Amino acid sequence: MTRLELGIPRIRRDPAAQPPADGRPDVPGLVDRFGRVARDLRVSVTEKCSLRCTYCMPAEGLPALARDDLLTAVEIARLVGVAVRDLGVTDIRFTGGEPLMRSDLAEIVELSAAVAAGASISMTTNGIGLDKRIGELVAAGLTRINISLDTVDRDHFARLTRRDRLPAVFAGIEAAKRAGITPLKINAVLMRDTLAGAADLLEWSLDNGCRLRFIEQMPLDADASWARDNMVDASELLEVLGERFTLTQPHRDDPSAPAEEWLVDGGPATVGIIASVTRSFCEACDRTRITAEGTVRSCLFGDDETDLRGLLRSGADDLAIATRWRAAMWGKQAGHGMSLPDFQRPLRSMGAIGG
Ligand code: SAM
Ligand code: SF4
Repeated sequence: MTRLELGIPRIRRDPAAQPPADGRPDVPGLVDRFGRVARDLRVSVTEKCSLRCTYCMPAEGLPALARDDLLTAVEIARLVGVAVRDLGVTDIRFTGGEPLMRSDLAEIVELSAAVAAGASISMTTNGIGLDKRIGELVAAGLTRINISLDTVDRDHFARLTRRDRLPAVFAGIEAAKRAGITPLKINAVLMRDTLAGAADLLEWSLDNGCRLRFIEQMPLDADASWARDNMVDASELLEVLGERFTLTQPHRDDPSAPAEEWLVDGGPATVGIIASVTRSFCEACDRTRITAEGTVRSCLFGDDETDLRGLLRSGADDLAIATRWRAAMWGKQAGHGMSLPDFQRPLRSMGAIGG
């Protein structure tokens, strides 16, 4: 098997093999060579998932990680603490795989919230099982949730996710709303199969008080079947939505916000469209990522990862962890490079990185 089939990125474990931090200014934040500052941390807590979305996971799921390879709740909270206290991170989002697959998720949230004063703590989830867990998660300190839902058509959902679980997602959405998570945000990946149902999804979201945003599909599917020529882009979506709704663009005051908001039928309701492929926002990217095995991933499309788990387990202090994290981010690449002739898709798929 090749590295690509196994999805193994290059991981820098040896401190001597860190990217050179030459020219890095002596500032606490996660700055990079292109003038960006990362303040938004995505933490993947597992590679496991209850769905098998075709744009993300292989049909058989990702190879299971050894239990020892996963960061523990205490280790995750330690990294969150370093990120917020020492590195200027202001937003923490738990993701995966499917974060609800971790039975200790509430503990992860609670321990993290305790060391992340002033930061927002949120989660991206497929919503399955959320109805049973929402109480403990909110009590632990979770304040915002994004739920991924690509279609409200049960057959389409089953085909796209390879699981007939749409009613379970609806139950999760209802429960989150009842728990006071409003407005609930819905993420939908644009796929050719579900494009015709995009207006139904928007109508459903408006009727159910959810804020919907569509995201262009990126070449991060485990099956490597993404093709630029067949990808549904934002302009195609606007055409389809335009047949049922009048969309107008309000003034955009936050250029780093990836979603382009459109007013629906004059507002106040909006729909977001993230043209991550056709209108890249890499120059304003403010993300840093920790994978489930405790490596820093500076870019979704950058396979160079820097190990923090080894440092944590060797008894390193917070300063050493912060220093290695800063060096990893200083080496962040300029952008995804999807339009370059020599573009190579990353070795890991979205579910293995943490979207
Ligand atoms: N399981 C959770 C979920 O689905 O919300 C969290 C992990 S999932 C990898 C995070 C987000 O990445 C989801 O909103 C999903 O739709 C999105 N995603 C996955 N694969 C993608 C791709 N190839 N292109 C764009 N977005 C993708
Ligand atoms: Fe699972 Fe989320 Fe990937 Fe779908 S997008 S397979 S729900 S991790």
